[in-house]
Amino acid sequence: MATNRTLTIIKPDAVANGNAGNILQKITDAGFKIIAMKYTHLTATQAGKFYAVHNARPFYGELVQFMTSGAVIPAILEKENAVEDFRKLIGATNPANAADGTIRKMYAESVERNAVHGSDSDENAMIEGSFFFSELERF
Ligand code: ADP
Ligand code: MG
Repeated sequence: MATNRTLTIIKPDAVANGNAGNILQKITDAGFKIIAMKYTHLTATQAGKFYAVHNARPFYGELVQFMTSGAVIPAILEKENAVEDFRKLIGATNPANAADGTIRKMYAESVERNAVHGSDSDENAMIEGSFFFSELERF
């Protein structure tokens, strides 16, 4: 994946609460183009692998449980400076610290149930994009 792409996941809290449509609107209003998207349900193996970097953290088990608790919407987004700009659009991990107008400020329930994922580097954007979209080379 080129460096102008990032990977998001609309997480189970936001999908279950009916916020997916509003979140996608905010994403496209901010100038991101949706390159790939699907509505799916992660297995514990998939969620565990996606968040493997956190497997030593005390919240890892709960995080995997949360991410498998309902449907999710992973998507690849394209925009110049996508990774950094998308992290700005979603706001801090903990919604209590997220700036006004950010997606997490508007839709997150807690530090865990925080509505959306956003890749933290170009390298991880590519790895995470391939994780959900094996047909990526066509996009
Ligand atoms: P981000 O999603 O902002 O990159 P991290 O990579 O640090 O944040 O954490 C991954 C995910 O793990 C968070 O989005 C959140 O769902 C969950 N998480 C992070 N920190 C905590 C915590 N202290 N307690 C519970 N869940 C957490
Ligand atoms: Mg992260």
